[in-house]
Amino acid sequence: MSDTDILDAVDRFLDREVRPHVTRLEHDDIWPEEIVAGMAELGLFGATISPNHGGLGLPAATYARIVERVARVWMSLAGIFNSHLIAAAMVERFGTEAQKRAFLPEMASGAKRGGLALTEPDCGTDLQAIRMRAVRDGDGYLLNGTKTWISNGLHGQVFAVLVKTDPNADPVHRGMSAFLLEKGPGFAAGRKFEKLGYKGIDSAELIFEDHRVGAERLIGGVEGKGLPHTLAALELGRINVAARGVGVAQAALDEAHRNSQNRKTVGKPISEHQASQIKLADMATRTEAARLLTNAAAEAYDRGGRTSLETSMAKLFASEAAVENSLEAMRVHGGYGYSKEFPVERLYRDAPLLVIGEGTSEVQRLVIARQLIERNSV
Ligand SMILES: Cc1cc2nc3c(=O)[nH]c(=O)nc-3n(C[C@H](O)[C@H](O)[C@H](O)COP(=O)(O)OP(=O)(O)OC[C@H]3O[C@@H](n4cnc5c(N)ncnc54)[C@H](O)[C@@H]3O)c2cc1C
Repeated sequence: MSDTDILDAVDRFLDREVRPHVTRLEHDDIWPEEIVAGMAELGLFGATISPNHGGLGLPAATYARIVERVARVWMSLAGIFNSHLIAAAMVERFGTEAQKRAFLPEMASGAKRGGLALTEPDCGTDLQAIRMRAVRDGDGYLLNGTKTWISNGLHGQVFAVLVKTDPNADPVHRGMSAFLLEKGPGFAAGRKFEKLGYKGIDSAELIFEDHRVGAERLIGGVEGKGLPHTLAALELGRINVAARGVGVAQAALDEAHRNSQNRKTVGKPISEHQASQIKLADMATRTEAARLLTNAAAEAYDRGGRTSLETSMAKLFASEAAVENSLEAMRVHGGYGYSKEFPVERLYRDAPLLVIGEGTSEVQRLVIARQLIERNSV
């Protein structure tokens, strides 16, 4: 199947299987079982996993276009395969051959879904402050700790989990390692969080109590590489979040167009009032700029090498564009924008997650600044 065929198949799926059900599933915060099965059938859980391991092997540029389409209809769905694919990318890029063979085919088919577990109750941005421990125990490890806000925490089975293997390491990151862990004795989901938006997808705690695993669960088989491996894999996650931002910004623009051309004040459609036109023009320009930055970041990722500058710029701009456009679309709707009967209220509740998850906007700015200095050192 060509990339165009895949994009067409995604469009058809969204129109038939998702669009008619979004409002009900979202308002009732229902995990969309049938839609997830459909996404698995489309191959989305293996979108960026190589065909050698059963995936579609799509370039990030095509992946970003899929994510934009999905988020334009329902952003939460893009979260169900995002951190799953980040975990898969960690295994594919840094795992051992045995780990790739053991996990990637089932992850690609969606038979095993999962995510990425970094955040803990006391820290999210400051990952070096994590407290979860993996202690050597015979020929394996004993893991203890709590992860929080983990996407797919309830419905996922397999997670890439960042832990400390040496809490006294200096520098700290040399004592951090990533494991690929499956629920079982000593590893279970904790409570599910109630959220402003981003409904349908579950965000939950993961609790590890004397969870014993063999050493083959250590990604790449070497301790001390967890943080760089995570940060590298997060570049794909930032492309996903940026593309979600484009999708939400575009959806807000679509809704603003619809309302402003249908509704009249003082004898003409709102879209013919200059004040509304300025809003629509700004929204459209922001959306297109976000799309171009996201495509550029995805293309840079596909060329290889580190792309934290490009992916952070795209993530920062596109997520802020989604927040701004969703508020502007609400204004264009007047009082109806505040009603649960129109999609803009959902966009307005969903968009703020994008400026938090995968690193806040403040953190993206810090990454961008550091990269600029590094690449332009005098
Ligand atoms: C719905 C949802 C889903 C999530 N899914 C996942 C997931 O699947 N896996 C996972 O591991 N995590 C997940 N998270 C957690 C998310 O990644 C963190 O919330 C995020 O990284 C911010 O961390 P924090 O909440 O601890 O905020 P904090 O780190 O406490 O930050 C609070 C504020 O301080 C600012 N700040 C912090 N440090 C600095 C600094 N050095 N300089 C300037 N400003 C700073 C931040 O920008 C922010 O504005 C999810 C969160 C949500 C809400």
